[in-house]
Amino acid sequence: MPELPEVETLVRQLRPLLTGRRIHGVHLTHEDILDGVTRRALHRGLIGATITAIDRRAKHALLHTDRQILAIQPGMSGTLIHHVGRMTTALRQYAVLQCELDDKSTLIYRDVRRIGTIRWLDADGWERYATRLGPEPLDPEFTAEEFADRIARSDSAIKKVIMNQRQVVGVGNIYANEALHAARINPRTLASKVSRRKLIALHAEVRRILQAAITSGGSTIRDYVSSAGEEGRFQQSLDVYGRGGQPCRTCGAMLATTHAIDNRATVFCRRCQR
Ligand SMILES: [Zn+2]
Repeated sequence: MPELPEVETLVRQLRPLLTGRRIHGVHLTHEDILDGVTRRALHRGLIGATITAIDRRAKHALLHTDRQILAIQPGMSGTLIHHVGRMTTALRQYAVLQCELDDKSTLIYRDVRRIGTIRWLDADGWERYATRLGPEPLDPEFTAEEFADRIARSDSAIKKVIMNQRQVVGVGNIYANEALHAARINPRTLASKVSRRKLIALHAEVRRILQAAITSGGSTIRDYVSSAGEEGRFQQSLDVYGRGGQPCRTCGAMLATTHAIDNRATVFCRRCQR
């Protein structure tokens, strides 16, 4: 389940391996993950293109080439793998997109359930697409004040608001649960009713948790494995996510689980998060 830290981890691992590489061959198994581009146009665009840079915006891995930008948004079960040597049967399974590179390595976008999306955009197309994305939580220019102003405008449950990609990008279910617990905010509270002081604390916690997750290589939950085939270690430091029914590490009360906010598992402490 790649969230911002997992995509950032992938991008950091792939950057030295992919930058400067030329794409020799392309194999796409299914077209249902393409958005706004046909199989033909993607093939024609990618074959012969050179990867000039790789970075991340929200949960998209952006492969800049000397032609256009390949924007991959891994779905719940999606990941990017850099493979050296012959493709094995195991690797080929669920490899939706394979790009053969000029150093005989292969970049694979693997997605068991094919919920991810692949786009092929010119710079203007990407700019237009990116206008619907909210600010980056780790951008130093996105201050606590701005975060609080933005979030406080909404009358939805705070958990929904911080997971809304138009408000702030990259905060998925795991990190929303963790940040709200650390900032001692009940996930159900309407964003407009959360105190300014707590919103400022939440901004700091979102940043701290995402940063820590990046440092430890992301969380490995279900199918996510980083491009080097290593499992992320951050899930070991999760305080609430996946710990419903277990004692709160802050106060010892039993953590509660609800699906009533957004149909996803929300784990929180009734005592710490009032
Ligand atoms: Zn507690």
